[in-house]
Amino acid sequence: MNPLFGEADPVSGISAVLPRTRLPEGPMPPATVSLLIRDELMLDGNPRLNLATFVTTWMEPEAHALMGDTADRNLVDRDEYPATAELEQRCVQMLRHLWHAPRPGARLGTSTIGSSEACMLAGMALKRRWTHRNADRYAAGARPNLVMGTNIQVCWKKFCNFWEVEARLVPMEGDRFHLGAEQAAERCDENTIGVVAVLGSTMDGSYEPVAEICAALDALEERTGRHVPVHVDAASGGMIAPFLEPELEWDFRLPRVASINTSGHKYGLVYPGIGWVLWRDREALPDDLVEHVNYLGGDVPTFTLNFSRPGAHVIGQYYNFLRLGHEGFRKVQGAIREVAVHLAERIEALGCFRLLTRGDQLPVFAFTTTDDVTRFNVFDVSRRLRESGWLVPAYTFPPNRQDLQVLRVVCRNGFSLDLADRLVDDLRNLLPWLRRQPGPIFGPEDATSFHHGPSFGSAGRSSRT
Ligand SMILES: *Cc1c(COP(=O)(O)O)cnc(C)c1O
Repeated sequence: MNPLFGEADPVSGISAVLPRTRLPEGPMPPATVSLLIRDELMLDGNPRLNLATFVTTWMEPEAHALMGDTADRNLVDRDEYPATAELEQRCVQMLRHLWHAPRPGARLGTSTIGSSEACMLAGMALKRRWTHRNADRYAAGARPNLVMGTNIQVCWKKFCNFWEVEARLVPMEGDRFHLGAEQAAERCDENTIGVVAVLGSTMDGSYEPVAEICAALDALEERTGRHVPVHVDAASGGMIAPFLEPELEWDFRLPRVASINTSGHKYGLVYPGIGWVLWRDREALPDDLVEHVNYLGGDVPTFTLNFSRPGAHVIGQYYNFLRLGHEGFRKVQGAIREVAVHLAERIEALGCFRLLTRGDQLPVFAFTTTDDVTRFNVFDVSRRLRESGWLVPAYTFPPNRQDLQVLRVVCRNGFSLDLADRLVDDLRNLLPWLRRQPGPIFGPEDATSFHHGPSFGSAGRSSRT
């Protein structure tokens, strides 16, 4: 017996303890390994009850099988898999069309591993454009900055950190929980590479006023001659708004919008591992950032951080596009938003919670306790819900609303009205217990480690998706 494994089960011969820190001495039979790992993974939560994540946990059996069958495709290997590369371009073009890009047929976009990589690429394009416009000043030490709300997703803080750009964060004030147009324009100066507008905010599911932000920057340009492009981080909303609010102008219809990203693995309904980023035109994507390869005989521009990437996820995205079409997406996203609005209303009706958003933009909402609740807080609620299997994160809002502690619910495809009602029942049944507490028990520190386990580097709120 391998000493690393501990005692083996006398009947099955399977050892009880899995190797954790060292490679085992020898091989194991495939069936055994598979069983052991499946057992270990049983400790993971039930994805249906996970209302913390935005990321897809279910795909149709046909899509699942298709992705399994193509798990060996490396997207970058266009020479060997030209058909997969072609599907990527078809997806880019469908998204260009969906987001009203001026030349839908242009190859000005790419798939990525997720929105984080997409945002890095978009941010780099903004920075490079600024350095071209300000070559002398940049060389003389001018420090570029990026303007955005404090509700921004952590990938933008990473971008600013990695690429040495000052993150100019506009704080929340009063009931404004995301970036405001005037506040954004006020913070722009000659070193601003761009403004990031979010559709919608990971903090509370609200859409930022993209058109107003663009208008405020139009006025700024008129006044000062300063040109500040906008990137729209539509990680979630990019696959919601086009179907549910086709009239809402947030995309390339606004001339100031230079680039847009979305997460294929959020409301694009693909398993984790895919994002998209598109640029308006060639001016928005400086050519000196793009490597040109000619595997396909023609000129194939590539601009990504990773070289090798799974092709199966692009295939899964193309499957969803064909399977659902415009009408299918409208139905699926409409149904889940109905669930979100219904759930928000029912939680409000319990009487001890106040809604900050209502699930009527992204199918996501945040709520807090009413002022008269003194015996428990949102962290207690989150913790107690976990005992019935629900994962509903609680957290503190960023500056200047750190006084606000909230719970957030993310509704995803597959979360039914029935399940929503079950959540309300469980929540209602908890209240007598919570009201019997002498006072709040848990706090922000407990919530973080509890929901997300240890995170790499800085602990804390950053691990929310
Ligand atoms: C989820 C999210 C991201 C990061 O996306 P990944 O696909 O998880 O890398 C960025 N911005 C916003 C607004 C998000 O919601």
